[in-house]
Amino acid sequence: MMKLKELAIQKLKERGVEITDIADIVFELQKKHIQDLTVDDCINTIDSIIEKREVIHAVLTGIAIDEAVEKNLLSEPINSIIKVDDSLYGIDEILPLSIVNIYGSIAFTNFGHLDKTKPGIIGKLDKLGKDNKQCHTFLDDIICAISSSAASRLAHKNRID
Ligand code: MG
Repeated sequence: MMKLKELAIQKLKERGVEITDIADIVFELQKKHIQDLTVDDCINTIDSIIEKREVIHAVLTGIAIDEAVEKNLLSEPINSIIKVDDSLYGIDEILPLSIVNIYGSIAFTNFGHLDKTKPGIIGKLDKLGKDNKQCHTFLDDIICAISSSAASRLAHKNRID
């Protein structure tokens, strides 16, 4: 059986998300705070975050719900509520908090910021969902959580004083 971490990375890929897409977001968040930051630093940090069981479970659970909704496998009305990404649903933001909670307040504030601004792949996923092509109601928030957690981890590791 494939290792859980590799499975999570493969599922992200299948759903249109490369690690480099996440790294681009993390780089934009932290480049003004960390001198000499590289995209490779961001990739390595994301890699260590996806190693954690809580993170892998959140990724696989979020994607499993999105895929089930695309196939109309959940009962109504919840299938439709998730499919239209109802703004009052909110559980899609609660699940990734299991990731953000590990990385503290910097992760938490960035999570809210990314959810509002939707840079890069987050915006792309959101648009695919809105166009009704696919369901990414959970995945976009999962990517917000991994990105903001990586930004937080980098910030703590690069503290100078
Ligand atoms: Mg969402």
